[in-house]
Amino acid sequence: MFDQPAENIRLRPTLEGLPAYVAGKPAADDGILRYKISSNESPFPPVPAVRDAVIASLGATHRYPDAAAGELRERLGAKHGVEPAQIALSTGSVAVSGDLVRALVGEGDEVVHAWRSFEAYPILVGSHGGVSVAVPVTATGEHDLEAMAAAITDRTRLVLLCTPNNPTGPSLSTDQVEEFLARVPEHVVVAIDEAYREFHDPATVLGTAGIFRRHGNVVLLRTFSKLQGLAGLRIGYAVAHPRLARALSQVTVPFGASSPAQAGALASLQPAVQEELEHRAEWIRSERSRVLAALAEQGWQLPASQGNFVYFPLGGQSAEFAEFADARGLVLRAYGTDGVRATIAEQEANDLLIEIAAAWRER
Ligand code: PMP
Repeated sequence: MFDQPAENIRLRPTLEGLPAYVAGKPAADDGILRYKISSNESPFPPVPAVRDAVIASLGATHRYPDAAAGELRERLGAKHGVEPAQIALSTGSVAVSGDLVRALVGEGDEVVHAWRSFEAYPILVGSHGGVSVAVPVTATGEHDLEAMAAAITDRTRLVLLCTPNNPTGPSLSTDQVEEFLARVPEHVVVAIDEAYREFHDPATVLGTAGIFRRHGNVVLLRTFSKLQGLAGLRIGYAVAHPRLARALSQVTVPFGASSPAQAGALASLQPAVQEELEHRAEWIRSERSRVLAALAEQGWQLPASQGNFVYFPLGGQSAEFAEFADARGLVLRAYGTDGVRATIAEQEANDLLIEIAAAWRER
């Protein structure tokens, strides 16, 4: 195809041996009806008012979006009780995490995160020449904050906390995070990735406003991909100290938040839409409880998930379980020889998950 070979291209050595990000598996196209519950997506399509706002924005896509995303940052600032200058946007919160790495991590600098946690973390860190310090989660899938604090060295520039943790499910309490922060030097940034915050029991959810006020080195990461159902539009943001938010805007891809994405995000913030989304969150929470209770009854011991997903710590049987489910109509996400994650989705899919989990135990 090409006249010249590409072997001589000098790729950065750090990319060798680094996997590319692999998304949740799509459903196979073999005639079997399957529910794809491998990517923690919303089972609901966008709220009509949001869809309409996105469609209306399409008439102006011959223009670049508002690069500063002024209106959206103002609205998000108001939501979080901060200045618009403290909001940094990009194409999904995974991109914002990448921006954090770009802004903070040089060759050989370290980033501490739990493992298993979000697949993208070690890839983002490694691809920028950073060193990913992956601290194993506990047997019940929780962050081992003691070990994570102990893993901080002079080279640490960033700590990534994921709460609720994807894929295991448990969350961090305000006290746990405060105690942890007390042990982190002020020059080390601690990002709290809350992609699944809205699915958390509201009574015990992390008190981020207070934490953020007390600690200038804390960054909150949020997305519109999960409860808001805008995964396909790609928009997420950070709430950060103005100095760090400015650094994020320096390193991020220009015009990363497209005009349909900005329109969708703005519409999602309308009170009536927020109310509808909260109903959806409540429904997901009740389905999660129903699924976890049914599985416990079957004898499964799963981590206590606060996300829109549950995790089967199946170890070496993970791939086999995912195949077992696939043949019976559910596309799940297997994580090597650690476990399998299933998204809480439409009721039929949740029912099928309960059925398949029972069949697996009885096989
Ligand atoms: N953080 C976590 C913990 C996630 O699980 C995901 C999505 N799987 C993201 C961030 C990325 O979300 P976004 O679509 O906003 O990039």
